[in-house]
Amino acid sequence: MNLQLLPIGKLDGGLLMDLAPDLANTFQVPCEILSTPLDPEFAFHGERQQYHSSEILARMQSYVTSDSWRILGVTAVDLYIPILTFVFGEAQIGGPCAIVSLHRLRQGCYGLSRDKDILNQRLLKEAVHEVGHTVNLTHCEDYNCAMAPSHAVEWIDLKEGWFCGPCRGRIFAP
Ligand SMILES: [Zn+2]
Ligand SMILES: [Zn+2]
Repeated sequence: MNLQLLPIGKLDGGLLMDLAPDLANTFQVPCEILSTPLDPEFAFHGERQQYHSSEILARMQSYVTSDSWRILGVTAVDLYIPILTFVFGEAQIGGPCAIVSLHRLRQGCYGLSRDKDILNQRLLKEAVHEVGHTVNLTHCEDYNCAMAPSHAVEWIDLKEGWFCGPCRGRIFAP
């Protein structure tokens, strides 16, 4: 069983290549990149100019096979759920699917110049966070832990791309 990365729409393939080994290491499971992207246009909301993340998550179920440990969708489009102006990502608690958007993780989104390292780090943290939800982790009070909640990139930058001891214990409990 693999942690499968699913590109949602057009994506710079190098991002997933960078992400896969770190996720494999964190969750101690092989990580592969699925070759058939999911086109998110069905989830586009014209008035908001954003994509409904729950609708994409629902559609992702059709990608689940006996090979899927978890599936993480990664997208460059801006995601929302109706009660919030945006979300960095969304997950099904207990699995199997989660999604992250890099749209608001880019420095360019805040008028700053492009920085690939910062983007990679933020994407890893949010990916670990959302996959963490799929293995039943809830939000953590340790602001360094990947399971700390983030409502702005400044909070993401405070976190690490891995779990605190208690969260790790919950996943890898004997
Ligand atoms: Zn969360
Ligand atoms: Zn924690």
